[in-house]
Amino acid sequence: MSASSPPATRGPFDCIVVGAGHNGLVCATYLARAGRTVLVVEAADRVGGAAVTREFAPGHRVSAGAHLLHQMPEALLADLRLAEHGFDYAARALPTTALAADRPPLPIGLGGLAALGAVSPRDAAAFVPFQERLGRFAKVLYPLLDSIPPRLGTDSWGDRLAFLKLGWRIRTLGRRDMRELLRIIGMNAYDLISDEFETPLLQGALGFDAILGTNFGPRAPGTVLTLLNRLAAESAVAPQPLSQPKGGMGALSDALAKAAIAAGASVRTGARVARIRIEGDRVVGVALESGEAIDARVVLSSADAKTTFLKLLGTRHLDTGFVRRVDHLRSKGLAAKLHLALDRAPVFRGVDARALGGRLLIAPSLDYLERAWNCSKYGESSTTPALEVTLPTVHDPALAPSGRHVLSAIVQYVPYAPKAGWGAERPRALENVLATLEEHAPGLRASVTASEFLTPADLEREFGMSGGHWHHGELAFDQFYMVRPVPGAAQYRTPVAGLYLCGASGHPGGGVMGLAGRNAARALLRGAA
Ligand SMILES: Cc1cc2nc3c(=O)[nH]c(=O)nc-3n(C[C@H](O)[C@H](O)[C@H](O)COP(=O)(O)OP(=O)(O)OC[C@H]3O[C@@H](n4cnc5c(N)ncnc54)[C@H](O)[C@@H]3O)c2cc1C
Repeated sequence: MSASSPPATRGPFDCIVVGAGHNGLVCATYLARAGRTVLVVEAADRVGGAAVTREFAPGHRVSAGAHLLHQMPEALLADLRLAEHGFDYAARALPTTALAADRPPLPIGLGGLAALGAVSPRDAAAFVPFQERLGRFAKVLYPLLDSIPPRLGTDSWGDRLAFLKLGWRIRTLGRRDMRELLRIIGMNAYDLISDEFETPLLQGALGFDAILGTNFGPRAPGTVLTLLNRLAAESAVAPQPLSQPKGGMGALSDALAKAAIAAGASVRTGARVARIRIEGDRVVGVALESGEAIDARVVLSSADAKTTFLKLLGTRHLDTGFVRRVDHLRSKGLAAKLHLALDRAPVFRGVDARALGGRLLIAPSLDYLERAWNCSKYGESSTTPALEVTLPTVHDPALAPSGRHVLSAIVQYVPYAPKAGWGAERPRALENVLATLEEHAPGLRASVTASEFLTPADLEREFGMSGGHWHHGELAFDQFYMVRPVPGAAQYRTPVAGLYLCGASGHPGGGVMGLAGRNAARALLRGAA
Protein backbone atom coordinates (compact mmCIF):
# COMPACT_ATOMS: atom_id res chain seq x y z
CA MET A 1 0.00 0.00 0.00
CA SER A 2 1.56 3.29 -1.02
CA ALA A 3 -1.10 5.99 -0.84
CA SER A 4 -1.18 8.77 1.73
CA SER A 5 -4.54 8.11 3.25
CA PRO A 6 -6.41 9.97 4.49
CA PRO A 7 -4.66 13.14 3.25
CA ALA A 8 -2.32 14.19 6.02
CA THR A 9 -2.38 17.75 7.24
CA ARG A 10 0.77 19.56 8.26
CA GLY A 11 -0.12 19.19 11.90
CA PRO A 12 0.41 19.92 14.61
CA PHE A 13 -0.10 16.30 15.70
CA ASP A 14 -0.05 14.80 19.13
CA CYS A 15 2.27 12.10 17.80
CA ILE A 16 4.41 11.47 14.75
CA VAL A 17 5.54 7.88 14.20
CA VAL A 18 8.71 7.58 12.13
CA GLY A 19 8.49 4.48 9.91
CA ALA A 20 5.51 2.43 8.76
CA GLY A 21 7.08 -0.94 9.51
CA HIS A 22 4.71 -3.28 11.32
CA ASN A 23 5.74 -1.94 14.74
CA GLY A 24 5.22 1.68 13.72
CA LEU A 25 1.76 0.83 12.40
CA VAL A 26 0.75 -1.11 15.52
CA CYS A 27 1.98 1.75 17.70
CA ALA A 28 0.04 4.32 15.62
CA THR A 29 -3.17 2.28 15.87
CA TYR A 30 -3.08 2.11 19.65
CA LEU A 31 -2.25 5.79 19.99
CA ALA A 32 -5.04 6.79 17.59
CA ARG A 33 -7.50 4.53 19.39
CA ALA A 34 -6.59 6.36 22.60
CA GLY A 35 -7.67 9.62 20.96
CA ARG A 36 -4.26 10.99 19.93
CA THR A 37 -3.87 12.63 16.55
CA VAL A 38 -1.22 10.55 14.81
CA LEU A 39 0.77 10.85 11.61
CA VAL A 40 2.98 8.00 10.37
CA VAL A 41 5.76 9.09 8.02
CA GLU A 42 7.48 6.40 5.98
CA ALA A 43 10.59 6.86 3.85
CA ALA A 44 9.76 4.06 1.39
CA ASP A 45 6.99 4.33 -1.17
CA ARG A 46 5.05 1.57 0.58
CA VAL A 47 4.27 0.52 4.12
CA GLY A 48 5.68 -2.56 5.88
CA GLY A 49 9.40 -2.00 6.43
CA ALA A 50 10.96 -5.47 6.30
CA ALA A 51 7.47 -7.07 6.23
CA VAL A 52 6.69 -6.33 2.60
CA THR A 53 5.75 -8.09 -0.64
CA ARG A 54 7.31 -6.87 -3.85
CA GLU A 55 8.11 -7.96 -7.38
CA PHE A 56 11.71 -9.11 -7.84
CA ALA A 57 11.35 -10.48 -11.37
CA PRO A 58 8.60 -9.81 -13.93
CA GLY A 59 5.39 -11.34 -12.58
CA HIS A 60 7.14 -12.90 -9.56
CA ARG A 61 6.41 -11.46 -6.12
CA VAL A 62 7.96 -12.40 -2.79
CA SER A 63 8.07 -11.40 0.85
CA ALA A 64 11.31 -9.48 0.44
CA GLY A 65 12.37 -9.44 4.13
CA ALA A 66 10.43 -11.53 6.64
CA HIS A 67 8.70 -14.47 4.95
CA LEU A 68 7.03 -16.46 7.74
CA LEU A 69 4.58 -15.15 10.30
CA HIS A 70 4.88 -16.98 13.62
CA GLN A 71 5.34 -14.46 16.38
CA MET A 72 2.45 -12.01 16.21
CA PRO A 73 0.12 -12.94 19.11
CA GLU A 74 -3.32 -14.19 18.07
CA ALA A 75 -4.86 -11.77 20.57
CA LEU A 76 -3.09 -8.83 18.93
CA LEU A 77 -4.25 -9.87 15.44
CA ALA A 78 -7.80 -10.13 16.77
CA ASP A 79 -7.63 -6.85 18.69
CA LEU A 80 -6.46 -5.04 15.57
CA ARG A 81 -9.35 -6.68 13.65
CA LEU A 82 -6.97 -7.44 10.80
CA ALA A 83 -9.34 -9.91 9.14
CA GLU A 84 -11.82 -7.03 8.66
CA HIS A 85 -8.99 -5.12 6.98
CA GLY A 86 -8.36 -7.85 4.43
CA PHE A 87 -5.77 -10.01 6.20
CA ASP A 88 -5.97 -13.73 5.48
CA TYR A 89 -3.68 -16.74 5.55
CA ALA A 90 -2.48 -18.66 2.52
CA ALA A 91 -1.51 -21.45 4.92
CA ARG A 92 -1.25 -22.10 8.64
CA ALA A 93 0.45 -24.73 10.78
CA LEU A 94 3.25 -25.13 8.24
CA PRO A 95 5.48 -28.14 8.88
CA THR A 96 9.26 -27.96 9.31
CA THR A 97 11.45 -30.51 7.57
CA ALA A 98 15.18 -30.90 8.15
CA LEU A 99 17.15 -31.84 5.04
CA ALA A 100 20.43 -33.71 4.73
CA ALA A 101 22.40 -34.51 1.60
CA ASP A 102 23.13 -38.10 2.63
CA ARG A 103 20.02 -39.13 4.60
CA PRO A 104 16.25 -38.96 4.18
CA PRO A 105 14.66 -35.71 5.39
CA LEU A 106 13.36 -35.60 8.96
CA PRO A 107 10.03 -33.97 9.79
CA ILE A 108 10.49 -31.89 12.96
CA GLY A 109 7.76 -31.63 15.58
CA LEU A 110 5.02 -33.81 16.99
CA GLY A 111 3.94 -34.89 13.49
CA GLY A 112 7.44 -36.25 12.89
CA LEU A 113 7.74 -38.39 16.02
CA ALA A 114 7.35 -41.70 14.18
CA ALA A 115 10.08 -40.77 11.70
CA LEU A 116 12.32 -39.63 14.57
CA GLY A 117 11.60 -42.86 16.43
CA ALA A 118 12.81 -44.85 13.43
CA VAL A 119 16.14 -42.97 13.57
CA SER A 120 16.49 -42.75 17.35
CA PRO A 121 13.94 -44.20 19.79
CA ARG A 122 15.82 -42.36 22.56
CA ASP A 123 15.29 -38.98 20.88
CA ALA A 124 11.65 -39.73 20.11
CA ALA A 125 11.08 -40.44 23.81
CA ALA A 126 12.94 -37.30 24.88
CA PHE A 127 11.34 -34.96 22.34
CA VAL A 128 7.90 -34.46 23.89
CA PRO A 129 9.12 -33.82 27.46
CA PHE A 130 11.74 -31.39 26.09
CA GLN A 131 9.16 -29.50 24.04
CA GLU A 132 6.75 -29.41 26.95
CA ARG A 133 9.43 -28.15 29.33
CA LEU A 134 10.54 -25.36 26.98
CA GLY A 135 6.85 -24.64 26.31
CA ARG A 136 6.28 -24.06 30.05
CA PHE A 137 9.27 -21.72 30.19
CA ALA A 138 8.04 -19.90 27.11
CA LYS A 139 4.60 -19.33 28.65
CA VAL A 140 6.12 -17.95 31.82
CA LEU A 141 8.37 -15.63 29.83
CA TYR A 142 5.73 -14.38 27.38
CA PRO A 143 4.28 -11.69 29.70
CA LEU A 144 7.76 -10.15 29.78
CA LEU A 145 7.63 -9.64 26.02
CA ASP A 146 4.21 -8.07 26.26
CA SER A 147 5.08 -5.46 28.88
CA ILE A 148 7.31 -2.47 29.49
CA PRO A 149 10.56 -3.59 31.13
CA PRO A 150 11.16 -2.21 34.63
CA ARG A 151 14.04 0.18 35.30
CA LEU A 152 17.02 -0.94 37.30
CA GLY A 153 17.92 0.71 40.58
CA THR A 154 14.95 3.05 41.05
CA ASP A 155 12.75 3.58 44.10
CA SER A 156 9.59 3.40 42.00
CA TRP A 157 6.95 0.99 43.25
CA GLY A 158 6.00 0.24 39.66
CA ASP A 159 9.53 -1.02 38.92
CA ARG A 160 9.68 -2.98 42.18
CA LEU A 161 6.33 -4.56 41.46
CA ALA A 162 7.46 -5.56 37.98
CA PHE A 163 10.53 -7.31 39.43
CA LEU A 164 8.36 -9.03 42.01
CA LYS A 165 5.97 -10.22 39.32
CA LEU A 166 8.87 -11.54 37.25
CA GLY A 167 10.24 -13.44 40.24
CA TRP A 168 6.78 -14.73 41.10
CA ARG A 169 6.11 -15.95 37.59
CA ILE A 170 9.34 -17.92 37.59
CA ARG A 171 8.49 -19.24 41.06
CA THR A 172 5.14 -20.56 39.77
CA LEU A 173 7.07 -23.01 37.62
CA GLY A 174 7.77 -25.03 40.73
CA ARG A 175 11.15 -25.87 42.19
CA ARG A 176 12.30 -28.33 39.54
CA ASP A 177 11.39 -26.26 36.49
CA MET A 178 12.59 -23.06 38.12
CA ARG A 179 16.02 -24.55 38.73
CA GLU A 180 16.13 -25.91 35.21
CA LEU A 181 15.18 -22.54 33.66
CA LEU A 182 17.85 -20.76 35.68
CA ARG A 183 20.38 -23.46 34.76
CA ILE A 184 19.82 -23.26 31.01
CA ILE A 185 18.98 -19.61 30.37
CA GLY A 186 22.62 -18.52 30.14
CA MET A 187 23.77 -21.63 28.28
CA ASN A 188 24.57 -22.05 24.65
CA ALA A 189 22.16 -23.93 22.41
CA TYR A 190 24.83 -26.42 21.34
CA ASP A 191 25.33 -27.78 24.86
CA LEU A 192 21.64 -27.84 25.74
CA ILE A 193 20.55 -29.57 22.56
CA SER A 194 23.40 -32.07 22.41
CA ASP A 195 22.79 -32.99 26.06
CA GLU A 196 19.21 -33.88 25.17
CA PHE A 197 19.39 -35.41 21.69
CA GLU A 198 21.70 -37.53 19.55
CA THR A 199 20.17 -37.16 16.06
CA PRO A 200 22.21 -34.60 14.10
CA LEU A 201 19.28 -33.52 11.89
CA LEU A 202 17.09 -32.81 14.91
CA GLN A 203 19.95 -31.08 16.71
CA GLY A 204 20.65 -28.88 13.70
CA ALA A 205 16.99 -27.91 13.28
CA LEU A 206 16.62 -26.93 16.95
CA GLY A 207 19.93 -25.07 16.86
CA PHE A 208 18.85 -23.19 13.75
CA ASP A 209 15.90 -21.66 15.59
CA ALA A 210 18.29 -20.43 18.29
CA ILE A 211 20.59 -18.58 15.87
CA LEU A 212 18.26 -17.42 13.08
CA GLY A 213 18.67 -13.68 12.52
CA THR A 214 21.51 -13.36 15.02
CA ASN A 215 25.25 -12.94 14.78
CA PHE A 216 25.90 -16.16 16.72
CA GLY A 217 26.79 -19.77 16.14
CA PRO A 218 25.09 -22.38 18.33
CA ARG A 219 28.09 -22.50 20.69
CA ALA A 220 27.78 -18.79 21.52
CA PRO A 221 26.62 -18.03 25.08
CA GLY A 222 23.08 -16.66 25.17
CA THR A 223 21.71 -18.79 22.35
CA VAL A 224 19.33 -20.59 24.70
CA LEU A 225 18.03 -17.12 25.56
CA THR A 226 17.38 -16.34 21.88
CA LEU A 227 15.66 -19.70 21.48
CA LEU A 228 13.45 -19.05 24.51
CA ASN A 229 12.67 -15.55 23.24
CA ARG A 230 11.43 -17.05 19.98
CA LEU A 231 9.43 -19.77 21.78
CA ALA A 232 7.94 -17.23 24.20
CA ALA A 233 6.60 -15.18 21.28
CA GLU A 234 5.31 -18.31 19.56
CA SER A 235 3.55 -19.43 22.74
CA ALA A 236 0.98 -16.66 22.16
CA VAL A 237 0.27 -17.84 18.63
CA ALA A 238 -0.75 -21.46 18.08
CA PRO A 239 0.67 -24.91 18.78
CA GLN A 240 2.06 -24.94 15.22
CA PRO A 241 2.77 -21.25 14.79
CA LEU A 242 4.36 -21.03 11.32
CA SER A 243 2.06 -19.37 8.82
CA GLN A 244 2.13 -17.66 5.45
CA PRO A 245 -0.05 -14.60 4.87
CA LYS A 246 -2.01 -14.63 1.64
CA GLY A 247 -0.29 -12.16 -0.68
CA GLY A 248 2.92 -12.36 1.36
CA MET A 249 3.99 -10.37 4.41
CA GLY A 250 3.12 -7.13 2.63
CA ALA A 251 -0.54 -8.08 2.86
CA LEU A 252 -0.22 -8.18 6.65
CA SER A 253 1.38 -4.72 6.60
CA ASP A 254 -1.35 -3.38 4.31
CA ALA A 255 -3.97 -4.64 6.76
CA LEU A 256 -2.05 -3.04 9.65
CA ALA A 257 -2.01 0.28 7.77
CA LYS A 258 -5.76 0.02 7.18
CA ALA A 259 -6.28 -0.68 10.89
CA ALA A 260 -4.22 2.40 11.76
CA ILE A 261 -6.20 4.56 9.34
CA ALA A 262 -9.51 3.14 10.59
CA ALA A 263 -8.44 4.13 14.10
CA GLY A 264 -7.91 7.70 12.87
CA ALA A 265 -4.18 7.83 12.09
CA SER A 266 -2.79 9.27 8.86
CA VAL A 267 -0.10 7.42 6.94
CA ARG A 268 2.26 9.10 4.47
CA THR A 269 4.64 7.07 2.34
CA GLY A 270 7.55 8.52 0.36
CA ALA A 271 8.16 10.87 3.29
CA ARG A 272 11.68 10.38 4.65
CA VAL A 273 12.46 12.08 7.93
CA ALA A 274 15.75 13.95 7.68
CA ARG A 275 15.74 15.26 11.22
CA ILE A 276 13.90 15.03 14.51
CA ARG A 277 13.42 18.65 15.54
CA ILE A 278 14.23 19.88 19.03
CA GLU A 279 13.50 23.22 20.63
CA GLY A 280 14.86 23.98 24.04
CA ASP A 281 15.26 20.48 25.41
CA ARG A 282 12.22 18.76 23.92
CA VAL A 283 10.98 17.34 20.66
CA VAL A 284 8.75 19.59 18.56
CA GLY A 285 8.34 17.49 15.41
CA VAL A 286 10.22 16.28 12.37
CA ALA A 287 11.72 17.78 9.22
CA LEU A 288 11.29 15.72 6.07
CA GLU A 289 13.99 15.41 3.42
CA SER A 290 11.74 17.49 1.18
CA GLY A 291 12.24 20.37 3.61
CA GLU A 292 8.71 20.16 5.01
CA ALA A 293 8.50 20.60 8.78
CA ILE A 294 5.71 18.87 10.70
CA ASP A 295 4.98 19.70 14.32
CA ALA A 296 4.13 17.22 17.05
CA ARG A 297 4.35 17.02 20.82
CA VAL A 298 5.80 13.53 20.66
CA VAL A 299 7.87 11.62 18.09
CA LEU A 300 8.03 7.81 18.25
CA SER A 301 10.72 6.33 16.04
CA SER A 302 10.55 2.81 14.69
CA ALA A 303 13.84 3.37 12.88
CA ASP A 304 16.63 1.51 14.68
CA ALA A 305 18.38 3.14 17.64
CA LYS A 306 21.56 4.06 15.77
CA THR A 307 19.57 5.75 13.00
CA THR A 308 17.25 7.47 15.47
CA PHE A 309 19.86 8.89 17.83
CA LEU A 310 22.97 9.30 15.69
CA LYS A 311 21.40 10.35 12.38
CA LEU A 312 17.90 11.74 12.92
CA LEU A 313 18.39 13.37 16.31
CA GLY A 314 22.08 14.20 16.35
CA THR A 315 24.60 13.60 19.09
CA ARG A 316 24.68 17.21 20.29
CA HIS A 317 21.33 16.63 22.00
CA LEU A 318 22.62 13.66 24.00
CA ASP A 319 25.22 13.18 26.68
CA THR A 320 28.47 11.54 25.66
CA GLY A 321 27.94 8.40 27.77
CA PHE A 322 24.62 7.72 26.06
CA VAL A 323 26.10 8.40 22.61
CA ARG A 324 28.92 5.96 23.35
CA ARG A 325 26.43 3.25 24.35
CA VAL A 326 24.42 3.73 21.16
CA ASP A 327 27.57 3.84 19.05
CA HIS A 328 28.71 0.54 20.59
CA LEU A 329 25.41 -1.24 19.94
CA ARG A 330 26.18 -4.44 18.05
CA SER A 331 24.03 -4.43 14.95
CA LYS A 332 25.88 -6.07 12.09
CA GLY A 333 23.48 -8.50 10.47
CA LEU A 334 24.53 -11.92 9.19
CA ALA A 335 21.27 -13.01 7.55
CA ALA A 336 20.91 -12.57 3.80
CA LYS A 337 17.94 -13.29 1.56
CA LEU A 338 17.77 -15.19 -1.72
CA HIS A 339 14.80 -15.03 -4.08
CA LEU A 340 14.57 -17.32 -7.09
CA ALA A 341 12.03 -17.33 -9.91
CA LEU A 342 11.58 -20.92 -11.08
CA ASP A 343 9.96 -22.21 -14.25
CA ARG A 344 8.72 -25.34 -12.43
CA ALA A 345 8.23 -26.67 -8.92
CA PRO A 346 11.55 -27.80 -7.45
CA VAL A 347 12.02 -31.38 -6.32
CA PHE A 348 13.89 -31.64 -3.02
CA ARG A 349 15.17 -35.14 -2.46
CA GLY A 350 12.71 -37.16 -0.34
CA VAL A 351 10.42 -34.16 0.29
CA ASP A 352 6.70 -34.82 -0.25
CA ALA A 353 4.08 -32.31 -1.43
CA ARG A 354 3.03 -31.28 2.08
CA ALA A 355 6.58 -30.69 3.28
CA LEU A 356 7.37 -28.71 0.10
CA GLY A 357 4.78 -26.12 1.12
CA GLY A 358 6.34 -25.77 4.58
CA ARG A 359 9.69 -24.72 5.96
CA LEU A 360 12.73 -26.62 4.72
CA LEU A 361 15.86 -26.32 6.83
CA ILE A 362 19.36 -26.95 5.61
CA ALA A 363 21.22 -27.12 8.90
CA PRO A 364 21.95 -30.85 9.11
CA SER A 365 23.88 -30.72 12.39
CA LEU A 366 25.05 -28.37 15.11
CA ASP A 367 28.61 -28.64 13.83
CA TYR A 368 27.42 -27.68 10.34
CA LEU A 369 25.91 -24.53 11.84
CA GLU A 370 29.01 -23.75 13.86
CA ARG A 371 31.26 -24.20 10.82
CA ALA A 372 28.94 -22.03 8.74
CA TRP A 373 29.32 -19.31 11.38
CA ASN A 374 33.12 -19.64 11.49
CA CYS A 375 33.54 -18.17 7.99
CA SER A 376 31.67 -15.03 8.93
CA LYS A 377 34.00 -14.35 11.87
CA TYR A 378 36.74 -13.74 9.32
CA GLY A 379 34.65 -11.62 6.96
CA GLU A 380 33.75 -14.45 4.57
CA SER A 381 30.43 -15.96 3.55
CA SER A 382 29.76 -19.52 4.64
CA THR A 383 30.97 -22.02 2.09
CA THR A 384 28.17 -24.32 3.26
CA PRO A 385 25.46 -21.88 4.41
CA ALA A 386 22.54 -22.75 6.66
CA LEU A 387 19.22 -22.07 4.93
CA GLU A 388 15.55 -21.63 5.79
CA VAL A 389 13.77 -22.28 2.49
CA THR A 390 10.12 -21.64 1.64
CA LEU A 391 8.19 -22.05 -1.61
CA PRO A 392 5.41 -19.49 -1.08
CA THR A 393 3.79 -20.25 -4.45
CA VAL A 394 2.84 -23.76 -3.28
CA HIS A 395 0.05 -22.22 -1.15
CA ASP A 396 -0.27 -18.90 -2.95
CA PRO A 397 0.09 -19.47 -6.70
CA ALA A 398 -0.95 -15.88 -7.44
CA LEU A 399 2.58 -14.76 -6.44
CA ALA A 400 3.91 -16.00 -9.81
CA PRO A 401 2.62 -16.57 -13.35
CA SER A 402 0.73 -19.81 -13.83
CA GLY A 403 2.93 -22.89 -13.41
CA ARG A 404 5.89 -20.82 -12.18
CA HIS A 405 7.26 -20.73 -8.65
CA VAL A 406 9.11 -18.50 -6.24
CA LEU A 407 11.72 -19.70 -3.75
CA SER A 408 12.51 -17.55 -0.74
CA ALA A 409 15.49 -18.46 1.47
CA ILE A 410 17.08 -16.89 4.51
CA VAL A 411 20.82 -17.45 4.37
CA GLN A 412 22.96 -17.67 7.51
CA TYR A 413 25.77 -16.48 7.51
CA VAL A 414 26.67 -13.66 5.12
CA PRO A 415 28.85 -10.91 6.63
CA TYR A 416 27.78 -7.28 6.53
CA ALA A 417 31.21 -6.09 5.42
CA PRO A 418 33.15 -8.93 3.74
CA LYS A 419 36.91 -8.52 3.78
CA ALA A 420 37.07 -9.03 -0.02
CA GLY A 421 34.44 -6.31 -0.62
CA TRP A 422 31.00 -6.99 -2.11
CA GLY A 423 32.28 -6.91 -5.70
CA ALA A 424 34.19 -10.15 -5.13
CA GLU A 425 32.10 -11.63 -2.31
CA ARG A 426 28.61 -11.34 -3.82
CA PRO A 427 29.09 -13.89 -6.66
CA ARG A 428 30.95 -16.20 -4.28
CA ALA A 429 28.23 -16.03 -1.61
CA LEU A 430 25.48 -16.57 -4.19
CA GLU A 431 27.32 -19.51 -5.70
CA ASN A 432 27.66 -21.11 -2.25
CA VAL A 433 23.91 -20.87 -1.70
CA LEU A 434 22.99 -22.18 -5.17
CA ALA A 435 25.44 -25.08 -4.85
CA THR A 436 23.97 -25.95 -1.43
CA LEU A 437 20.43 -25.86 -2.82
CA GLU A 438 21.42 -27.94 -5.84
CA GLU A 439 22.79 -30.62 -3.55
CA HIS A 440 19.34 -31.03 -1.99
CA ALA A 441 17.24 -30.28 -5.07
CA PRO A 442 19.14 -31.63 -8.09
CA GLY A 443 18.15 -29.75 -11.24
CA LEU A 444 17.02 -26.64 -9.40
CA ARG A 445 19.64 -24.43 -11.05
CA ALA A 446 18.33 -25.31 -14.49
CA SER A 447 14.87 -24.07 -13.51
CA VAL A 448 16.02 -20.62 -12.30
CA THR A 449 14.81 -17.83 -14.59
CA ALA A 450 15.76 -14.89 -12.33
CA SER A 451 17.35 -14.34 -8.96
CA GLU A 452 17.84 -11.65 -6.36
CA PHE A 453 20.38 -11.89 -3.56
CA LEU A 454 20.06 -9.37 -0.73
CA THR A 455 23.13 -9.16 1.49
CA PRO A 456 22.91 -7.50 4.92
CA ALA A 457 24.31 -4.35 3.25
CA ASP A 458 21.47 -4.50 0.67
CA LEU A 459 18.92 -5.06 3.47
CA GLU A 460 20.30 -2.00 5.25
CA ARG A 461 19.86 0.06 2.07
CA GLU A 462 16.39 -1.27 1.22
CA PHE A 463 14.83 -1.29 4.68
CA GLY A 464 16.90 1.39 6.40
CA MET A 465 17.93 -0.99 9.22
CA SER A 466 21.46 -0.33 10.50
CA GLY A 467 23.72 -3.26 9.67
CA GLY A 468 20.79 -4.96 7.93
CA HIS A 469 20.18 -6.58 11.30
CA TRP A 470 16.99 -8.60 11.74
CA HIS A 471 16.52 -7.30 15.31
CA HIS A 472 17.75 -3.72 14.65
CA GLY A 473 20.59 -4.68 17.03
CA GLU A 474 21.82 -7.99 18.43
CA LEU A 475 19.49 -9.81 20.80
CA ALA A 476 21.99 -10.73 23.49
CA PHE A 477 22.23 -10.51 27.27
CA ASP A 478 23.90 -7.09 27.11
CA GLN A 479 21.18 -5.76 24.77
CA PHE A 480 18.16 -7.52 26.23
CA TYR A 481 15.03 -6.63 28.18
CA MET A 482 15.86 -3.95 30.79
CA VAL A 483 18.94 -2.77 28.89
CA ARG A 484 17.55 -2.97 25.33
CA PRO A 485 18.70 -1.24 23.22
CA VAL A 486 20.79 0.68 25.79
CA PRO A 487 20.27 1.81 29.37
CA GLY A 488 18.50 5.16 29.28
CA ALA A 489 16.20 4.15 26.42
CA ALA A 490 15.04 0.70 27.52
CA GLN A 491 11.49 1.66 28.49
CA TYR A 492 10.78 3.17 25.03
CA ARG A 493 11.21 6.68 26.45
CA THR A 494 14.58 8.26 25.66
CA PRO A 495 16.75 10.90 27.36
CA VAL A 496 15.11 13.56 25.13
CA ALA A 497 11.68 14.72 26.30
CA GLY A 498 9.01 13.74 23.81
CA LEU A 499 11.12 11.16 21.93
CA TYR A 500 10.27 7.45 22.12
CA LEU A 501 11.48 4.31 20.37
CA CYS A 502 8.77 2.00 19.02
CA GLY A 503 10.53 -0.50 16.71
CA ALA A 504 12.57 -3.69 16.95
CA SER A 505 15.48 -1.83 18.59
CA GLY A 506 13.39 -1.79 21.72
CA HIS A 507 12.27 -4.72 23.84
CA PRO A 508 11.42 -7.48 22.84
CA GLY A 509 13.40 -7.06 19.62
CA GLY A 510 12.74 -8.15 16.07
CA GLY A 511 10.51 -10.63 14.38
CA VAL A 512 7.09 -9.67 13.08
CA MET A 513 5.54 -9.57 16.53
CA GLY A 514 4.12 -6.07 16.98
CA LEU A 515 4.88 -6.02 20.69
CA ALA A 516 7.58 -3.32 20.61
CA GLY A 517 5.07 -1.04 18.88
CA ARG A 518 2.26 -1.82 21.31
CA ASN A 519 4.50 -1.54 24.39
CA ALA A 520 5.79 1.84 23.21
CA ALA A 521 2.23 3.13 22.80
CA ARG A 522 1.43 1.88 26.31
CA ALA A 523 4.55 3.55 27.73
CA LEU A 524 3.50 6.86 26.25
CA LEU A 525 -0.17 6.55 27.22
CA ARG A 526 0.57 5.54 30.78
CA GLY A 527 3.28 8.16 31.11
CA ALA A 528 4.76 5.27 33.01
CA ALA A 529 8.27 5.17 31.75
C1 LIG B 1 16.32 -11.15 5.80
C2 LIG B 1 15.33 -11.08 6.92
C3 LIG B 1 14.40 -12.08 7.07
C4 LIG B 1 13.49 -12.04 8.13
N1 LIG B 1 12.56 -13.05 8.24
C5 LIG B 1 11.65 -12.99 9.23
C6 LIG B 1 10.60 -13.94 9.27
O1 LIG B 1 10.49 -14.82 8.42
N2 LIG B 1 9.68 -13.82 10.28
C7 LIG B 1 9.75 -12.83 11.21
O2 LIG B 1 8.89 -12.78 12.11
N3 LIG B 1 10.74 -11.90 11.18
C8 LIG B 1 11.66 -11.94 10.20
N4 LIG B 1 12.62 -10.97 10.11
C9 LIG B 1 12.67 -9.91 11.12
C10 LIG B 1 11.64 -8.82 10.86
O3 LIG B 1 11.51 -8.56 9.48
C11 LIG B 1 12.03 -7.52 11.56
O4 LIG B 1 12.45 -7.77 12.88
C12 LIG B 1 10.82 -6.58 11.61
O5 LIG B 1 10.40 -6.31 10.28
C13 LIG B 1 11.14 -5.27 12.32
O6 LIG B 1 9.97 -4.49 12.28
P1 LIG B 1 9.96 -2.94 12.67
O7 LIG B 1 8.61 -2.44 12.34
O8 LIG B 1 10.45 -2.79 14.05
O9 LIG B 1 11.06 -2.29 11.73
P2 LIG B 1 11.19 -2.23 10.15
O10 LIG B 1 10.42 -3.33 9.52
O11 LIG B 1 12.65 -2.16 9.86
O12 LIG B 1 10.49 -0.86 9.79
C14 LIG B 1 11.09 0.38 10.09
C15 LIG B 1 10.56 1.37 9.08
O13 LIG B 1 11.12 2.65 9.34
C16 LIG B 1 11.37 3.27 8.10
N5 LIG B 1 12.35 4.33 8.28
C17 LIG B 1 13.64 4.21 8.65
N6 LIG B 1 14.23 5.42 8.66
C18 LIG B 1 13.28 6.32 8.30
C19 LIG B 1 13.28 7.73 8.11
N7 LIG B 1 14.39 8.45 8.28
N8 LIG B 1 12.12 8.34 7.75
C20 LIG B 1 10.97 7.63 7.56
N9 LIG B 1 10.94 6.28 7.69
C21 LIG B 1 12.08 5.65 8.06
C22 LIG B 1 11.87 2.16 7.22
O14 LIG B 1 11.76 2.49 5.84
C23 LIG B 1 10.93 1.04 7.63
O15 LIG B 1 9.77 1.02 6.85
C24 LIG B 1 13.52 -10.97 9.05
C25 LIG B 1 14.46 -9.94 8.89
C26 LIG B 1 15.35 -9.98 7.84
C27 LIG B 1 16.33 -8.86 7.68
